[in-house]
Amino acid sequence: MITLLGIPLDVNSSYLPGPAEAPRKIREAFHCEASNAWSESGIEVPVGAFADEGDLPLRNTREAVGEDFAEIERAGGELLAKASQPIFLGGDHSITYPVLKAFAPRYRNLTIVHFDAHPDLYDEFEGSRTSHACPFARIMEAGLAARLIQFGIRTLNRHQREQAAKFGVEIVQMRDLPAFDRLNIAGPVYISFDMDVLDPAFAPGVSHREPGGMSVREAIAHLHAIEGKIVGADLVEYNPKQDISALTAGVAAKILREIMGKTGV
Ligand code: MN
Ligand code: MN
Repeated sequence: MITLLGIPLDVNSSYLPGPAEAPRKIREAFHCEASNAWSESGIEVPVGAFADEGDLPLRNTREAVGEDFAEIERAGGELLAKASQPIFLGGDHSITYPVLKAFAPRYRNLTIVHFDAHPDLYDEFEGSRTSHACPFARIMEAGLAARLIQFGIRTLNRHQREQAAKFGVEIVQMRDLPAFDRLNIAGPVYISFDMDVLDPAFAPGVSHREPGGMSVREAIAHLHAIEGKIVGADLVEYNPKQDISALTAGVAAKILREIMGKTGV
């Protein structure tokens, strides 16, 4: 069964706090009566068709990052031990590293499909190795995934190009989309969806607004094109403090519903 778990952690955000408040706001939008419970793929995801474990209690301070990461890994492992398909509601993107630590022992041949404006491959960022700019460097150097394919990237710099080459990361830049053929994947898939992959015109409620991004439609089309069994996902970097009229919360809820429809209930 699909299980939601909120991860209210934003202390690894390099620029603006806010994503710690996201899980509650995404749930509110998800349950809003303005829309029905059907995903576009024809799967209904009403309350009762999935479990919701609420938000993980975390300290969300600089000093407690190690403790909070250990708690995220433990909670992820517990969900996987119950044979559920967890979907983690972030939080900033740093949460994906401890989450993948829980997945790695159980899925040897995991492919991460990563939607983001940014490759998040910095070795360190402003003195931090747990920054939300670094999770995929940590994941790849620890060998937690067999493949990492990134979609929608539009902020590549020299350092991150070098990091991508070093770790064998497959990058599909925004300028090279659509790329549906890159989503025919053998083996288990983990989706990591950073809301800033979307153009700020569609999703202003993010910390790092990067113009020239995906429309909601392009994102959904690429999600629908994923082949391979989806075993888990995260939806990160929604920042309610930057949002306008809960517009981005509604988009996050729609993306969540489509991921759930792909994952199966
Ligand atoms: Mn990111
Ligand atoms: Mn990003």
